[in-house]
Order: sequence, then C-alpha cells, then structure tokens
Amino acid sequence: MWWLFLNPKFMSNILIQNYQKVASSIPKDVTLVAVSKTKPKEDISVLYNEGQRVFGENRIEELVEKSQALPSDIEWHMIGHLQSKKVKKIAPFISLIHSIDSLKLLNEVNKEAKKNERIIDCLLQFHIAEEDSKYGFNEKEGTALLQSSEFKEMENIRIVGVMGMATFTENQDQIKTEFETLIQIREKIKELLPKATEISMGMSGDYTLAIQLGSTMVRIGSTIFGHRN
Ligand SMILES: *Cc1c(COP(=O)(O)O)cnc(C)c1O
Repeated sequence: MWWLFLNPKFMSNILIQNYQKVASSIPKDVTLVAVSKTKPKEDISVLYNEGQRVFGENRIEELVEKSQALPSDIEWHMIGHLQSKKVKKIAPFISLIHSIDSLKLLNEVNKEAKKNERIIDCLLQFHIAEEDSKYGFNEKEGTALLQSSEFKEMENIRIVGVMGMATFTENQDQIKTEFETLIQIREKIKELLPKATEISMGMSGDYTLAIQLGSTMVRIGSTIFGHRN
C-alpha cells in the first residue's frame, strides 16, 4: 500500500479529511488558524479550496513567499518569534501577529504599519509554560507595557488579545493550570483595553481542552497537515 502515498490525489484526500475533522470539532465562534509552516503551497491551496482562509506561519521568508504565490484573500498570521528587523517584510500584508514579546518589537510594528498606512492587529505573547523560553511577557511586564506612555502614543497597532503556549506534556492538569493563568492575564488586560478579547491558545495536542476553557483562537498544524520533519 506504500505506493498510495506517492499519489497526490490520495494525499490531498487525507489532508481534506484531517481538515474537515478538525474544523467540524471547533465551535463557530473559535477561529481556526491552520499552521502551515514547512508545508508546501499546494497543501495550502487544497485547504483554501475547502474554504479555509486563515493560515499561520513562523518564518518570515517562507511567509512572504507563500503570501505572494497564493490568493490575496488569505489572512496570514505570524505565530513565531519575530525579530524587529524583519517586521518591514510582513507589514504590508500581515493580518495578525500573535507573538509580540517586547516593547521594542511593538514599536517597530507600529512604525512599519504607519509606513504602509495600516493598523496592524497584534496579540501580546505571555510565557505560561514551565519550560525555559526566552519569549513572552509575564503579567506584570504586559500590564506595564499597556500603561506606558510609549504604548499610548502608538496609533498604527491594535492589541486585540493575548497568546500563550502550554508546556509540552501529557499532564492535563498542568496544561489546564497554565491555560487558566493565561485566561486570568487576559482578564487583567481587558481592564486596561476592553477590546482585547482574543485568547490564542491550543495546538494539536491540547486544543480541545483550550476550547473548553475559553480559547477564541486555536493554532493547529500537525493534526491537519501531518507531522513536520
Ligand atoms: C508550530 C506551532 C503551532 C502548531 O503546532 P502543532 O502541534 O503542529 O499543532 C502552534 N503554535 C505555535 C506558536 C507554533 O509554533
């Protein structure tokens, strides 16, 4: 049966089945971000033809290349760590940046958005996992940013919510605790910015739990597209 995997039609049928299974398990008011990083443009086209419009990527060069080759009504989300010097490459077209993790980066997004006469939607990324990661604010840092005079002067960005990643573990209680931390942070953020209602949490391994707890946006890659190398 191995030869079936060489048949593009067979492979795209698997992709469509995976996608439909995931999409039908997600409530209508939760946004599905199909995480297409490392996957070919052909796979994105297959899902586009099924009606999917929101795709997530984490590398700038790949994101720019795909956005130029694929239909212009796709909403591209940047979900990975973003270096300030690369913001200008995505500022003309990016729909949502999930990974704002410093004031410096937000400043840069604001500046490049202004050059493009746009307002760019952003999420503040919070570090909720046990794992050591350089990226993401803690609650205090995030609220301090929103109260800073620098932030108040930024006219070309809009903070629409928060994003976080739970620890990569089988321990459901731990994941739940970490997701609840993010929800509490979002409540604090909402006191300062009532329109910051989005909560981007949940990936292939934990999106069902994330939705039960109140996620508004799930970022799902391997369950739809298969494992990445
Ligand atoms: C890769 C990635 C995902 C998707 O991960 P899967 O486990 O394949 O669903 C979600 N969020 C971020 C930030 C990622 O980098």
